[in-house]
Amino acid sequence: VEEMMIRSEKMSVAGQLAAGIAHEIRNPLTSLKGFLQLLQAGVKRKEEYYNIMIEEIEKMETITSELLFISKPLTDNKKMESIAAMIHDVVVLLQPQAKMKNIEIEYTISKKEQIFCDRSQVKQVLINLVKNAIEAMDDGGKIRLITHSTDTHVEINIVDEGPGIPEEIIHKLGEPFFTTKQSGTGLGIMITKQILERHHAFLEIKANEQMGSTFRILFPVIMN
Ligand code: ADP
Ligand code: MG
Repeated sequence: VEEMMIRSEKMSVAGQLAAGIAHEIRNPLTSLKGFLQLLQAGVKRKEEYYNIMIEEIEKMETITSELLFISKPLTDNKKMESIAAMIHDVVVLLQPQAKMKNIEIEYTISKKEQIFCDRSQVKQVLINLVKNAIEAMDDGGKIRLITHSTDTHVEINIVDEGPGIPEEIIHKLGEPFFTTKQSGTGLGIMITKQILERHHAFLEIKANEQMGSTFRILFPVIMN
């Protein structure tokens, strides 16, 4: 009985996800069909329509590649990894995007801090959170990556100067497809939480309405 219950619970999560995917893909498809019909009818503003169509296709591309990431059987390759090196890689990767928005990414980390983790998965977590920070800031500013360790935990804080997060939506962050962005997928925090679970780590979100947000990742020092 217990097994059956677990199985049916899984089905409903899969069902939920499928419904979400269908919805996310159907909207751009409907809009693509509409624009193709307009073009077929021989409208004038072709260039404009082409641009919107490309945007819709790009949205579907992003969603499908993020879904592929989720569906990949993640094989953990856990080792002791330097936090500084992972943060450095991610900052190098996202620097161009930040610069374009006049955002400075600042990080101070001691070379010693290490965690037992899968390097590419933790980098994916950092990419998701730093990207969100960049996307949250509209007129420049600073993103700070601050690490800190205690006897029991190593933490990484991603602190931005964006608008913060309204209290009434904070609990929705990490629900599949929850986004407040025009071209968001609403999968970033969900993926982040999944990866952190695999590392017995967790995510804390601190946000004031107005004073920016802090996403804090806590890795336990003792790993199994
Ligand atoms: P997406 O970035 O595609 O919208 P995410 O799962 O990464 O999906 O984020 C979900 C939502 O959480 C965002 O749409 C946004 O409303 C909110 N959010 C996440 N990070 C931040 C941040 N640093 N500042 C403000 N809002 C944020
Ligand atoms: Mg995101």
